[in-house]
Amino acid sequence: MILQLNLTKGHVQEIVDHVKSHAPLEACGLLAGKNDRVEKVFFVRNQAQSPVRFVMDPQEQLKAFDWIESNELDLLGIFHSHPTGPETASPTDISEAAYDVVHVICSRTDSEWKLRGFWIANGEATEVSLQIVD
Ligand SMILES: [Zn+2]
Repeated sequence: MILQLNLTKGHVQEIVDHVKSHAPLEACGLLAGKNDRVEKVFFVRNQAQSPVRFVMDPQEQLKAFDWIESNELDLLGIFHSHPTGPETASPTDISEAAYDVVHVICSRTDSEWKLRGFWIANGEATEVSLQIVD
């Protein structure tokens, strides 16, 4: 279980720009790195093209997994957006969580985008602290 994930301001900006450009549809991607430090953000097409759910394009996901492996990094997180909230993992997110990674939700309230991280196990989501570093 990861209790804290470190991202740079640049990573946060990349994620917010990406999800903003896809709203009102949900957008998604992967976070790779070492230990608790994110080193690379991948954008993956949301095959569901839906405002309320996401399904990662399996080919793009596989390509990212290959890159992560050949660069000796680990999959640390999966992010997706909630363009109309909530800030937390939805019941669908909890039931569909398939990887032991941090699930980062990028949600929008009014015009403000916000990131929160969750560890999902045994049908429960526990908050993971996201540290924004330079
Ligand atoms: Zn969700």
